[in-house]
Amino acid sequence: MADPKGFLNHDRELPRRRPVDVRIRDWREVYEEFPPARLERQASRCMDCGIPFCHNGCPLGNLIPEWNDLVHRGDWREGIERLHATNNFPEFTGRLCPAPCEAACVLGINSDPVAIKRVEVEIIDRAWAEGWVTPRPPAKATGHRVAVVGSGPAGLAAAQQLTRAGHEVVVYERADRIGGLLRYGIPEFKMEKRHLDRRLAQMRAEGTEFRTSVNVGVDVTAADLTRDYDAVVLAGGATRPNDFLRGAPGRHLAGVHQAMDYLPRANKVQEGDHVPDLISAAGKHVVVIGGGDTGADCVGTAVRQGAASVTQLELLPRPSAFRSKEYPWPTYPMLFKVESAHEELLGGERDRVYGVNTLEFLGDEQGRVRALRVVDVRGPETRFEPVPGTEREIPADLVTFALGFAGPEREGLLEDLATQAADPDSFFDARGNVARDKSYMSGVPGVFVAGDIGRGQSLIVWAIAEGRSAAAAVDRHLTGHTALPVAIPPTARSLA
Ligand SMILES: Cc1cc2nc3c(=O)[nH]c(=O)nc-3n(C[C@H](O)[C@H](O)[C@H](O)COP(=O)(O)OP(=O)(O)OC[C@H]3O[C@@H](n4cnc5c(N)ncnc54)[C@H](O)[C@@H]3O)c2cc1C
Ligand code: SF4
Repeated sequence: MADPKGFLNHDRELPRRRPVDVRIRDWREVYEEFPPARLERQASRCMDCGIPFCHNGCPLGNLIPEWNDLVHRGDWREGIERLHATNNFPEFTGRLCPAPCEAACVLGINSDPVAIKRVEVEIIDRAWAEGWVTPRPPAKATGHRVAVVGSGPAGLAAAQQLTRAGHEVVVYERADRIGGLLRYGIPEFKMEKRHLDRRLAQMRAEGTEFRTSVNVGVDVTAADLTRDYDAVVLAGGATRPNDFLRGAPGRHLAGVHQAMDYLPRANKVQEGDHVPDLISAAGKHVVVIGGGDTGADCVGTAVRQGAASVTQLELLPRPSAFRSKEYPWPTYPMLFKVESAHEELLGGERDRVYGVNTLEFLGDEQGRVRALRVVDVRGPETRFEPVPGTEREIPADLVTFALGFAGPEREGLLEDLATQAADPDSFFDARGNVARDKSYMSGVPGVFVAGDIGRGQSLIVWAIAEGRSAAAAVDRHLTGHTALPVAIPPTARSLA
């Protein structure tokens, strides 16, 4: 146990975020440095529970009490070994995960949970800085070839595991750079891309091959892959957007965009690219429809681009700041959160509007959006019934939709593969994702599924967990056995 009295003697502490007026002038990550001594104190709060519920909360089964103890004792080097034992990319989850482990931490029952995520990120950042993270190429080659389609966290985790198991792995990515949503969805201020590039260099040195700007299903067919490779892992994500407002008058005015049309272009500018079709918020009144994390990413991006105002609208009522009986410990609660982007809203909390529906997009003579007509609603019990007398206009020169995602894109690759399945009607599940069995295999033999493409838009930690588990299944399929760990045993795996 890290320190029997750690949780009694020390309060939870996190690094401060840089001042808003400073950080919105750059795109760098928002947190200040956290001295190692204070981090070791945070790790000492862990009680090394007999039943560590944090494990249960983490889809990767991270060995949290073990590395808390090691960090408290100053053995950071062993800490990274234990961390890498269950997680290929702790620098991504340590920055970006909503930390279901902390929601499940036993200390959280009547106190503040252990700062697990901060301990995680400090371990991996120190490991990189000390040169402890090095390529781990396989001892021998198996002669089997595996194609991975998609280079988000699921594809990268599967590729790294399979390469280390000795298979020849080629990752196909239709974008011009590797990384999936880590690269072109998540903005620089949440995770600087140098962390991704450093990990990709390690993967290349281990032998993983990356082919960018290849749209599988168009440039290379599904039949090419199943002919040329011994196994295929589908990890193409699920970025087909919901468009709940498609029937609203004025929806097709210029200046109304999906978040995933807006964010990737902004991210490309941060890569140093010239982006002729950039959608810029500079000088504009911006309205972000959708109160979730993608919406928050749009807010932080618009503020940094120099928007005149940014308003974030959410249909649901404002959630509670505390657990209600709907979300008892150790479930992950839907709570009111103040992300860094929310602190940056020019008008503060008043620019986050809850319980409001968009009725119409109003345009000017050039066909550009100029305002939204909105109304307050009661709900969801009353089916978002409008509140009489609350209709009003909000000025808007740029609108982004962050309304969630409907599943994977089917055209091309997936439609082709469905025709190869023994039962084409069962290739997709009832929710429109690619169906897979308990060994992560789709309806086409030898074609496996990992990440959002199989479970719908989810979290990075789930994508890595599925990538690791699918890799173990592929390895067993190819060689008849596997030494690769399974992050989520198929029986315990939630497909929700
Ligand atoms: C804006 C945004 C912010 C988010 N922020 C967070 C966060 O902070 N924390 C968190 O945990 N989760 C976050 N998420 C969710 C998280 O990013 C995803 O759950 C995760 O990236 C899924 O990983 P994946 O590997 O399954 O797919 P993706 O990351 O979507 O990667 C799929 C890749 O496959 C490629 N591809 C698709 N089809 C083809 C094809 N036919 N040929 C070649 N390539 C193809 C795509 O171009 C893409 O690069 C966010 C999502 C969005 C949209
Ligand atoms: S549940 Fe919390 S206190 Fe218990 S072992 Fe996990 S991190 Fe430590």
